[in-house]
Amino acid sequence: MNTSHDRLVVVGAGLAGLRAAETARLAGFTGSITLVGAEELPPYDRPPLSESVLAVGVKTTVQTFRTVEQLSRKLGVEFLGGRQATALQFARRTLELDERESLC
Ligand SMILES: Cc1cc2nc3c(=O)[nH]c(=O)nc-3n(C[C@H](O)[C@H](O)[C@H](O)COP(=O)(O)OP(=O)(O)OC[C@H]3O[C@@H](n4cnc5c(N)ncnc54)[C@H](O)[C@@H]3O)c2cc1C
Repeated sequence: MNTSHDRLVVVGAGLAGLRAAETARLAGFTGSITLVGAEELPPYDRPPLSESVLAVGVKTTVQTFRTVEQLSRKLGVEFLGGRQATALQFARRTLELDERESLC
């Protein structure tokens, strides 16, 4: 893995986004990692949600794969929840959030 860049921003805080961040760390990336998600929650397990709809009477709580604190402490990942990535300026290496703020 090329580790010459010191910042990784992952858009989409689902399972794939989480695995991307974890894999970057496993591969030796030591720069900062930001995980941007449109939902307020950190990555959570979706299949039990549909199972609870099919199985009458089964109560389901949303199970996150990692808490915001675990993301930060164990993976060194900053989680930006409730934020929508709205544009990518590739040449300028900036990502626009919510049509107003830019991450470099
Ligand atoms: C209710 C439900 C039940 C399911 N049940 C099963 C099952 O029983 N078995 C099974 O195999 N699979 C199931 N799935 C599918 C499984 O959950 C998906 O395969 C898995 O979630 C895919 O993960 P992902 O990270 O690729 O995408 P997603 O889980 O879709 O995550 C993508 C995330 O990116 C965010 N995002 C997208 N665009 C932006 C943006 N521009 N800016 C910021 N954030 C953005 C979205 O809000 C979302 O949180 C289910 C899915 C749902 C919704």
